[in-house]
Amino acid sequence: MTTAAAQAAVAENPWLNAQRQFDNAAEILNLSPGLRAVLREVRRELVVRFPVKLDNGGLRVFEGYRVQHNLTRGPAKGGLRFHPETNVDEVKALAMWMTWKCALAGLPYGGAKGGVAVDPATLSHRELERLTRRFASEISVLVGPDSDIPAPDVNTSAEIMAWIMDTISMEAGYSIPAVVTGKPLDIGGSEGRPSATGRGVTIVALEACRRAEMDPASTRVAVQGFGNVGSVSAQLMHDAGFVVCAVSDVHGGIYSPGGIDIPELMEHRRTTGGIADFPGTRFVSNSELLQLPVDLLVPAALENQITARNAGHIHARLVIEGANGPTTPDADVILEQRGITVVPDILANAGGVTVSYFEWVQDLQSFFWEEGEINRRLERIMQKAFTQMCQQADSHGVSLRLGAYLVAVKRVADATAVRGIYP
Ligand code: NAD
Repeated sequence: MTTAAAQAAVAENPWLNAQRQFDNAAEILNLSPGLRAVLREVRRELVVRFPVKLDNGGLRVFEGYRVQHNLTRGPAKGGLRFHPETNVDEVKALAMWMTWKCALAGLPYGGAKGGVAVDPATLSHRELERLTRRFASEISVLVGPDSDIPAPDVNTSAEIMAWIMDTISMEAGYSIPAVVTGKPLDIGGSEGRPSATGRGVTIVALEACRRAEMDPASTRVAVQGFGNVGSVSAQLMHDAGFVVCAVSDVHGGIYSPGGIDIPELMEHRRTTGGIADFPGTRFVSNSELLQLPVDLLVPAALENQITARNAGHIHARLVIEGANGPTTPDADVILEQRGITVVPDILANAGGVTVSYFEWVQDLQSFFWEEGEINRRLERIMQKAFTQMCQQADSHGVSLRLGAYLVAVKRVADATAVRGIYP
């Protein structure tokens, strides 16, 4: 590896970056060395290797992870990702970010995350089900409605959550809907959960525009990633009056300076299976999309999209982090120097875990709410967390990310201190 490649590998290691973000907050909060040592490591990391029967009669061994960063404020909560490049450092970072996200939103959870190193597109539907069920069984030593509750993330769906719920329930001998969130409605899922993360992104985008005195009707938006988070964000931001002029998926993006009709694009995707060649748009690569002349950027794909290499070329005034970890700490410094405001992931995409919390509460009570009530409660929580983040950022004269961390880390640190150290 060249020196530059080695430096990039460190600068883009999500776990080192998550620790660096924590350290910045711990310094301002003046946390004791002992508390810092507790909070900057994960509590548990489980690595499993398990065989799956393939349709052709062969066997393949997969590697999967479930990491719990912190359990001080409640059971662990966090999604499961199926992606070929998932690894333990990525999952550790995602677990730590979940801890801060739940604390910032005021949810009674700790943080966890999991995943399997697999490209699900290479598996048949039946192979995917067998992989999911075996993985659920392997991590069942950690998961449970009172201990650790998974949810969807990249390349995992409501159907996959149903298989996990069924596997854990079959092994127990009775139904345990609250073991996983993001399930289909038929088995205890919640109204509003599929759109919750994108709805939260939109609520936060409106708040951030108000703070920056930007009018949504003249705010041009680019959204990177057109999956659960990106497509719902694009749709709801379009509905809220923003001018969404670029979107992309893993194959690249489309751009129309005057705006894209998102409902028509959804129809185009339904009929063609993708967003490419949508009439009235031109192709842009994912790296071009980030540098388009827009006012607001929503990275909603993966980590490390805005780095020291391209942060100097971002045009947007506002970055709303739909994805987890899309901006590296080095890029944060450059964006801040350039006067670009970043609304951090731990707030911007907290809508998903918030409605997951509502789903879990409904499952535990076996009493279900209507979508209007879900969306109203979600909006209240997101707006309150936004205000608390801004108060901390303004009173310390720091970025919104650091403001959000100051709220979240302090809550977890206070909870740790009040519980005391066992035994
Ligand atoms: P998803 O699998 O539904 O969609 C991912 C999208 O990103 C797809 O459109 C895919 O084509 C695209 N993509 C993948 N690699 C890309 C690349 N290199 N460049 C551009 N686009 C790429 O996943 P999702 O659930 O929407 O998650 C997206 C991000 O949001 C992740 O960072 C995830 O952790 C975060 N997130 C998800 C939720 C949730 O509720 N699903 C909640 C909070 C945060």
